[in-house]
Amino acid sequence: MYEIYCKLRDEKGVKDADVVRATGITKSTFSSWKNGKYTPKNEKLQKIANYFGVSLEYLRTGNVPDFIYSDDNVDFLIEVQRCSKDTEFVNRMKKYMSLLTNDKKSVDDINVKGKKVLVRCDFNVPLQDGKITDENRLVAALPTIKKLIADGGKVILCSHLGKPKGEPKPELSLAPVAKRLSELLGQEVKFAADPEVVGPNAKAAVAEMKDGDVILLENTRYRAEETKNGDEFSKELASLCDVFVNDAFGTAHRAHCSNVGVTKYVDTAVVGYLMQKEIDFLGNAVNNPERPFVAILGGAKVSSKISVINNLLDKVDTLIIGGGMSYTFSKAMGGHIGTSLCEDDYLQYALDMMKKAEDKGVKLLLPLDNRIGDNFSNDCNIQVVKRGEIPDGWEGMDIGPETEKLFGDAVKDAKTVVWNGPMGCFEMPNFAHGTEAVAKALAETDATTIIGGGDSAAAVNILGYGDKMTHISTGGGASLEFLEGKELPGVAAANDK
Ligand code: AMP
Repeated sequence: MYEIYCKLRDEKGVKDADVVRATGITKSTFSSWKNGKYTPKNEKLQKIANYFGVSLEYLRTGNVPDFIYSDDNVDFLIEVQRCSKDTEFVNRMKKYMSLLTNDKKSVDDINVKGKKVLVRCDFNVPLQDGKITDENRLVAALPTIKKLIADGGKVILCSHLGKPKGEPKPELSLAPVAKRLSELLGQEVKFAADPEVVGPNAKAAVAEMKDGDVILLENTRYRAEETKNGDEFSKELASLCDVFVNDAFGTAHRAHCSNVGVTKYVDTAVVGYLMQKEIDFLGNAVNNPERPFVAILGGAKVSSKISVINNLLDKVDTLIIGGGMSYTFSKAMGGHIGTSLCEDDYLQYALDMMKKAEDKGVKLLLPLDNRIGDNFSNDCNIQVVKRGEIPDGWEGMDIGPETEKLFGDAVKDAKTVVWNGPMGCFEMPNFAHGTEAVAKALAETDATTIIGGGDSAAAVNILGYGDKMTHISTGGGASLEFLEGKELPGVAAANDK
């Protein structure tokens, strides 16, 4: 609840005065509230007073009271609505609350019989000589597509593929996707070849559709407006359909025509099953985790995960930091790191985060030892040394065996584990031990295990532990932004329940 308030205050500019207006509690009553002891006469309002009392207390003293309200957001919202005459404020609250409670309308909440349904999918698959080399994203899109076909919708699929930079590039055409999707679905997916994406060919193909038919539009990034969220292309996409479904989590952190702009011109905009699953797993893990909650961060740079570290320290019981980013922490503590990756601009930040962890009582685990190499290649000379004892000319490329045990033990009794970023240069087999040990530990724990997209997902799959995880996100950047606590425009644009 406290985080919700901070977001409202920081990102939406909600003022305490708004709360006073919305709830009808006078400002003086509000400010007399201290440490949760104040009881408003109207008991139902106490929930609201408590809720914002936390924030007022925080603003006054800079200290967050040591309790967390786990009241059900819906009750809270009902009270705000009941008490407030300020509809604009209520709507703002409603929009924001529903975002945090994953309360978006989904394909289960609409009737698409006989309707034209535009579905934004993530068909951004790797291609080699026109062949799809990893079809996970196609398979992941099938449940929503099948549901819409079964319900009698006219299903118009769209997606981007690669970076054609606003012009038609035959090697980035979605034609091979239409072919493979037809095989996977067991019914024809007609490809609406059209360099304008929504040009005469696409419009004619849509006009001929019967209930239960499926077509796929050309790569949305053939149009330069797509990534600029331009109005023209958004309107053109919207003109094809009666209903819009967003099932592309991988692009949810971007506001583009085909996932955000189009919703301005379509009344019904909902999320698909894949998107819903991502929001449920990541949202629940971060905002409502079963504890102990352990987060594991790795990867190359501290700077790309600054906000993630900061945000997660407010939520986790244990934060594990491995991978290339751990050497910045090691150096900040006065260690020798040889030629290991390091961001000198973030040494102070690393110390600040260690202090924050200590202040909050969060266990922060850093590597105890490292596998190091004398050059950046798989067959360099290798040795294991203690953290902070890396000789000149050597580079930390993986965590060492003691650290594997430390990290593995830390997830044993966890109830929720979120992992983003490899523990070392896992692409080189000699430096994949640490990442594999963590993957194995996650595979063996009873906790809910959630793997961020991108490199961590690739590592888990390559190492053969994919099917042992509770959820592997399909979005790299999007899952990272979720962990940062940011609002994802692609999710926000869908209708609230
Ligand atoms: P990121 O995109 O930040 O999650 O970083 C993933 C990349 O970090 C992978 O390609 C890893 O090879 C790389 N990485 C992890 N640990 C190290 C390390 N100790 N030194 C250099 N690169 C690393």
